[in-house]
Amino acid sequence: MKAVMLEEFQEPLEVQDVERPEPEPHGIVAEVDGCGVCRSDWHCWQGDWDWFGYRPDPPHILGHEPCGTVVEVGEDVESVAEGDHIAIPFNFACGKCELCRNGRENICENHIGLGFMNEAPGAFAEEVHVPNADINAVPLPDEIDPDTAAGIGCRFMTSYHGMAHRGDVGNGEDVVVHGLGGVGLSAVHIADALGANVIGVDLFEEKLEKAEQLGAVTTVNASEVDDPAKEVHDITDGGADCSVDALGIATTCQNAVNSLAKGGRHVQIGLTTAEEEGHVSLPTDEFVAKEIDFRGSLGLQPSRYPEMLDMIRTGKIDPKELVSETVGIEEVPDRLAAMSDYDTMGIPVCNEF
Ligand SMILES: [Zn+2]
Ligand SMILES: [Zn+2]
Repeated sequence: MKAVMLEEFQEPLEVQDVERPEPEPHGIVAEVDGCGVCRSDWHCWQGDWDWFGYRPDPPHILGHEPCGTVVEVGEDVESVAEGDHIAIPFNFACGKCELCRNGRENICENHIGLGFMNEAPGAFAEEVHVPNADINAVPLPDEIDPDTAAGIGCRFMTSYHGMAHRGDVGNGEDVVVHGLGGVGLSAVHIADALGANVIGVDLFEEKLEKAEQLGAVTTVNASEVDDPAKEVHDITDGGADCSVDALGIATTCQNAVNSLAKGGRHVQIGLTTAEEEGHVSLPTDEFVAKEIDFRGSLGLQPSRYPEMLDMIRTGKIDPKELVSETVGIEEVPDRLAAMSDYDTMGIPVCNEF
């Protein structure tokens, strides 16, 4: 089958012919219907995420935002059948550890990152293996078509968890989202649907316009002001209730935290880059004086997909709004290369293999 292979970090990616996966007893194999092209693929390709354990030994298949149709089922799988349409989270859970048993399977002790770790070859491929499929293969309702499901990827579902659970936003609160890539725009759309007043911050005018289309009440172009955080304080008359760093560079993280009002909460969704290597300097005393919460947010636990899928099914949120273009597998290497210049909008999806 065709697959996008990482042969050497930072060297051009190739589409190659590789072996199809076989299901492990607890796993399934799905034919990939769609797979989002994400900045996280780009970071993995650059070899950025050594400190996070997301640096596979090449050769490795990239891709971590798939939805698919089950084509083969391992003998120990109980709840998944051939022909099922499924969403596939990138952060595979074991289903057995204490976190899994307490509904926090997105941060499972035995976490395996699809497309990021040796144990899980990725989904820029005709077929992908899903381990522990009774947990990690999330059934899709019939009303959600493959094009919509393909937009759920990691960015949309990650933003859902960040806004609905970790940020707990709503009730007319002011939420500021710094960095309007796929995660940031999804966060704007979802926070708006949850009842927040959303402010989007980015350097690019077209991303700010898209944020307003998706429900932002106003935006700040960070390239045109001295201090974006001060702008947010002026707009909100005292600071945001919740801030989001959806990019993961020092500047957006610091600006997001500095945008907060007293008692505010910061949601960190973006992982940092090779520049920060996981460390950003933050105004610690402000956390004390203002009683600010700093909350990390990783993926979305499979057990909580149904609430997001319900909101999609009833039209309150729509992942398709974020899908900027669809491409064939041959174009994936170029789409990822374009991310070196931040030259992408929303969520490109690969849906031809
Ligand atoms: Zn677990
Ligand atoms: Zn992603």
